Amino acid sequence: MNADYATGGTSAPPVIRGPRESIPAWIDPSPWLALARGATLTDARRALDSAQPGEAEFAALLSSAAGGLLEEMALRARDLTRRHFGNTVSLYVPLYLSDFCSGGCVYCGFASDRPQSRRKLGKEELIRELDALKGMGFEEILLLTGERTPQAGLAYLRDGVAEAARRFAAVTVEAFPMLTEEYRALVDAGAIGVTIYQETYEPVQYEQLHRWGPKRDFANRLDTPTRVLEGGMRMAGMGTLLGLSDPLVDTISLYRHAMHLRRRYWQSGVSLSFPRVCPQEGGYVPPFPVSDRYLAQIIFAFRICMPDVPLVLSTREAPGFRDGMAGVGINKMSIASRTTVGGYGQPAESPDGQFHVNDDRDIETFCAMLKGKGLEPVFKNWDKVYR
Ligand code: SF4
Repeated sequence: MNADYATGGTSAPPVIRGPRESIPAWIDPSPWLALARGATLTDARRALDSAQPGEAEFAALLSSAAGGLLEEMALRARDLTRRHFGNTVSLYVPLYLSDFCSGGCVYCGFASDRPQSRRKLGKEELIRELDALKGMGFEEILLLTGERTPQAGLAYLRDGVAEAARRFAAVTVEAFPMLTEEYRALVDAGAIGVTIYQETYEPVQYEQLHRWGPKRDFANRLDTPTRVLEGGMRMAGMGTLLGLSDPLVDTISLYRHAMHLRRRYWQSGVSLSFPRVCPQEGGYVPPFPVSDRYLAQIIFAFRICMPDVPLVLSTREAPGFRDGMAGVGINKMSIASRTTVGGYGQPAESPDGQFHVNDDRDIETFCAMLKGKGLEPVFKNWDKVYR
């Protein structure tokens, strides 16, 4: 019986299959789908008790049967998180530099057919925003843009990175896919990491969701984390947007993709995020909604099978869920996030963000929650001198 990802029950989900020939063998989830869909409680128990869990165990831990072991999975995930990351949760903040975008992703509030005015931060505004965030105590910042546009291309992004790197210990970027030498230029400007989500590993679904723009190129996006690491970035942030496709396909593919990169670029690292589709301008309703309970199971499965990989949870998720996951699988979180362009130094002109934030607590409230759980909020855990 299959997991019902929306409710945590046991009805069969719809399955959209793409042509597997367009997926490299080292990402193809096919070898493990039958196990993930049909694992017994014995399979799940064996996976949970495994001393060295790998792909087979990961698939079994995603199964409906493993859902019956969720509390035990949580305990193991918490132990592993504490062993590898201590009683800490690293904090970062996103800053949208620009909402210009040529893309047509159906699930995104910045898609080029959304009837909203567009803007980007000028240099003075950027400095004001960076100083405001620094004043709040942040030491890690994620700079975001949409697809490459004349208004916000590489030069604009590189200048933003350089400005941020003068103030923050860690600057990372979530923007359009680039060439290896372009990533190298961002490293030289002070960036240490790039987040680039595949969104979904289902090629047919991918094509339908990305209606126009460069992001339609599935293979190019698949190759981007490799170029990120080839370009000298210390960290490639990866993830799928849960809700777009069968989560078994996407999570198993993500696991295999991350393992492939870890083997090839062992000096660098990957981090994994678990965004779910949020309400957004455009009103897209995800065909494969993932319940809180199943999202927790996914996070625990990743922690158990990738114990030393940073796992990230953003303010897309509601406070109650985030509080429950902090230190129990998740070791890195954003807080005080705005998904509009700017809005930290002074209120954003446009209320339209990329998606609606679910956790809008301020940093003091969030840190008090962490401390109440015996967790230490960490603002800085990296310095250039260590590189
Ligand atoms: S997800 Fe990125 S590329 Fe797609 S519309 Fe939104 S900002 Fe543009």
